[in-house]
Amino acid sequence: MDFNLSNLPTRSKSEEEHVKVLILGSGPAGLSAALYVARASLNPVVLSGIEIGGQISLTYSIENYPGFPDGIGGMELYELFQKQAERFGARIEIDIADEVDLSDRPFRVKTQNGKLYLAESLIISTGASAITLNVPGEKEFTGKGVSYCGTCDGWFFKGKDVVVVGGGDSALEEGIFLTRFANSVTIVHRRDQLRAGPILQERARNNPKIDFVWNKIVTEVTGNGSVQSVQLRDTITGEESEQDTNGLFVFIGHKPNTQLFEGQLDMDELGYLIVDQKMRTNVAGVFAAGEVADPHFRQVITSAGMGAAAAMEAGHFLDEIVGYNR
Ligand code: NAP
Repeated sequence: MDFNLSNLPTRSKSEEEHVKVLILGSGPAGLSAALYVARASLNPVVLSGIEIGGQISLTYSIENYPGFPDGIGGMELYELFQKQAERFGARIEIDIADEVDLSDRPFRVKTQNGKLYLAESLIISTGASAITLNVPGEKEFTGKGVSYCGTCDGWFFKGKDVVVVGGGDSALEEGIFLTRFANSVTIVHRRDQLRAGPILQERARNNPKIDFVWNKIVTEVTGNGSVQSVQLRDTITGEESEQDTNGLFVFIGHKPNTQLFEGQLDMDELGYLIVDQKMRTNVAGVFAAGEVADPHFRQVITSAGMGAAAAMEAGHFLDEIVGYNR
């Protein structure tokens, strides 16, 4: 990617801001980092990113974040994270990083709102986004029956029949959630063994509105203005079939949001940022936390922990390497 922020048009002072720590992303990793950086009196600025609150804001209920024995709504947890970080001086901007230049410090981050941040240290917590099936009709019917978020769109399927694709925790959790609205939920999985954990498996198998279709993939989405059916292929026999449905919910995993850093930061073969135990990337002063750097655990609690660790290391970096006087 060709980054040359020095060629940007001359900016007025108000469009440029020099910050000690800039945090990209407002999910659990970003807001936990913001809390720790703020409590170290380093006045962090958080750029919210496209999905404010990250993936938790799209989650109906989170039951495995300690401290909430009855579970907590994703949006509610986001608001608590935000309130706590802001209480100590974090500033959250509704804005998106467009271009990043890490070739020199201060790092230069240009945003969609036309602002240029000069950051002594950067914490990247841009998370991950839903993977699409990449089949004919999927793009055409997105928002017209194809969805990647049951919490956001479930209500539109009151009394309707929907298909869910995937066999992981997300597919089952969202499939169970969709039974609040839908008449029936058919979970289509490419194998005959679910990847999801046992509690969700049991809940889904015991839900009278949920059916499973094993060893099948969706090869096409068809309809007329909105989704009417999906074409299926048997992964063992190759046999083709059609399933009538009003909606298609796709939960087949996520890809890290790292396109901005291509050619600048080390990534693995799937595009996840590579960090060491101290959340350091290959560029001194640039740290990464949460799902953007974690292809393995991807939990709210692990992301929050990584965010706190990145924040503490950013503090050490500024103290020891840059010699910042707080
Ligand atoms: P995931 O665990 O990676 O599961 C993705 C599922 O989609 C797998 O069953 C996979 O099949 C299937 N799949 C992948 N590509 C496909 C394709 N092209 N066509 C059809 N099927 C495809 O993703 P996830 O469910 O989003 O979960 C991500 C992480 O978040 C996991 O670590 C999970 O534990 C966590 N999570 C936890 C909770 C919770 O604890 N309540 C809730 C949601 C997510 P195979 O099984 O054959 O690979």
